[in-house]
Amino acid sequence: MSDLTFVALVGTLGLFVGSFLNVCIVRLPLGRTVLWGRSHCPHCDRQIRAWENLPVISWLALGGRCAGCHASISMQYPVIELVTGLVFAGGAWLYGPTLLLVARLLFACAMVVLFMIDLQHRILPNVITLPGILSGLAFSLVLPPGVRDALIGAAACSLLLFGMGEMVSRVLGKDALGFGDVKMIAMMGAFLGWQMTLVALFLASFLGSVIGLGLVAITRDRDYQIPLGSFLAVGALAAAAAGQPLLDWYVGSLFPR
Ligand SMILES: [Zn+2]
Repeated sequence: MSDLTFVALVGTLGLFVGSFLNVCIVRLPLGRTVLWGRSHCPHCDRQIRAWENLPVISWLALGGRCAGCHASISMQYPVIELVTGLVFAGGAWLYGPTLLLVARLLFACAMVVLFMIDLQHRILPNVITLPGILSGLAFSLVLPPGVRDALIGAAACSLLLFGMGEMVSRVLGKDALGFGDVKMIAMMGAFLGWQMTLVALFLASFLGSVIGLGLVAITRDRDYQIPLGSFLAVGALAAAAAGQPLLDWYVGSLFPR
């Protein structure tokens, strides 16, 4: 099998996994199981048939509408499917057919779900972050970053974020950080190691400040709560994909030869 065939196959798998991630994004905040139960149209309660559930294609074929009541179906569904497909294809290209690919794709799925749930509800469910920390540490026994960097990542990065949150909360006079964010960064540390998690935290803080302050300026809503977990998810995926070259470039520009 050529590299390109492998990338295409894994990318296609990603489209279908994206369908499942949509189910997680809708049901987990409601405390509903994602393991069984068919999906229904939220408007007319019509059961979604298998052929209406093909990633991206069905949404396009149906013109973004329910086949029963013609109520419009959120763009979120095909977008999440497409993004997951691209992330899977990118991972296959970066890591090839390895166990590291499996670990990184599981991690990426968690990041996609946490991104959307935090954006919509400002929560980061324990049902993802806690098993996430444990499985990251378990993978680190046999995979990069290795168990030492993973443990330091889980412990030190969460302490660092907790400390930063306490400081910001003192300055603002309100809670700036939830424990969900602390557990999420512990999961990132366990999967990526402390070095890449610091890169992710740096990217997330930068994005969060620019976009968050922009939103506060536009909406003039000083109480706007920034979805830090969503920014952490973007930072984590960027760091996993390109963190090392980014770090090398940054260090190289600080200390030119
Ligand atoms: Zn319907």
